[in-house]
Amino acid sequence: MVDHRRKRVRTIVVALGGNAILQPGQAGTAEEQLTNVDRTCRQIAKMIEAGHRVVVTHGNGPQVGNILIQNAEGARTVPALPMDMCGAESQGLIGYMMQNRLQAALADLGVAAPVVTIVTQTVVSPDDPSFQKPTKPVGPFYTEVKAKKAMAEKGETWIEDAGRGWRRVVPSPNPIRIVEEPAIKTMIEAGAVVICVGGGGIPVVEEGNHYRGVEAVIDKDLGGARLALNVGADTFMILTDVHRVAINYKTPRQVDLDRLTIEELQRFQAEGHFRAGSMGPKVEACRRFVAGGGRRAVIASLEEALEALAGEAGTQIVTAVEAGARVAGS
Ligand code: ADP
Ligand code: MG
Repeated sequence: MVDHRRKRVRTIVVALGGNAILQPGQAGTAEEQLTNVDRTCRQIAKMIEAGHRVVVTHGNGPQVGNILIQNAEGARTVPALPMDMCGAESQGLIGYMMQNRLQAALADLGVAAPVVTIVTQTVVSPDDPSFQKPTKPVGPFYTEVKAKKAMAEKGETWIEDAGRGWRRVVPSPNPIRIVEEPAIKTMIEAGAVVICVGGGGIPVVEEGNHYRGVEAVIDKDLGGARLALNVGADTFMILTDVHRVAINYKTPRQVDLDRLTIEELQRFQAEGHFRAGSMGPKVEACRRFVAGGGRRAVIASLEEALEALAGEAGTQIVTAVEAGARVAGS
């Protein structure tokens, strides 16, 4: 039995990538998703069994994409819903699958811990520059005719995507604050494994002391870093489909990084080693977490999650002070 009261427990925020729920090439059947989520939850359960307090966040791109297709195809029968509501649907869907499989994985290990999903809204600024320049592709591919119709009738932005057809792009604003933060903290304190800030959270803007959902998508890694700082996590861990972050990625001079300081990371960022739609937001999320006072950020593969947590796999990102302490102490 895990009893977090007996010792100082460290909170780990784990951000799961797309492959944790759906593998490339899969269509997204219920079985496929549940099987992947089960494999993911077995890893998370082992971290909890080892005595860590784990908070889980996750991406939702493929799931929201499928919900948007269902909305578009079904629009003649039932009204299509806006993006914020599709995001909420995906949080509930993924939360359910994770609750179900994580409860099973914990039960198999004999660990008694409640698992709960919190539908989460994330505050963004209406003045965020991304609202002037939407860049994040979402949903199905359309023909030029249908795309231009959506632009004219709904004021949406659609772009031609490398010969594959037309695709809607939405703003990707910076996450500022997590609306449900007090509830999330209360649940963590009560010993629950909390699943939250799915897909970076549902983007909302403040209107007085109310919130209004907007048509945008928050990056899940940046949302995860915000969450990790807000709950005072010791470690922020991003699990994806590569073992380590690399410089000169996919070139003959590729070097996989095992440990670096945020100063080194910033230099590699400035040199353009990390792609905008994939590794870029992950390293930026890690930089923000460590620069904001977090002890350690880790980027690793799902399979090596446990080793990475022990500091023996993945890419470990720390402050210069922490790096120095390691050298001095080793
Ligand atoms: P996730 O769904 O986990 O967010 P992404 O596809 O967004 O995954 O990002 C992970 C991908 O980033 C890897 O599969 C890899 O191909 C790519 N990538 C881009 N640049 C790098 C880099 N410098 N080092 C390692 N991987 C990189
Ligand atoms: Mg990604």
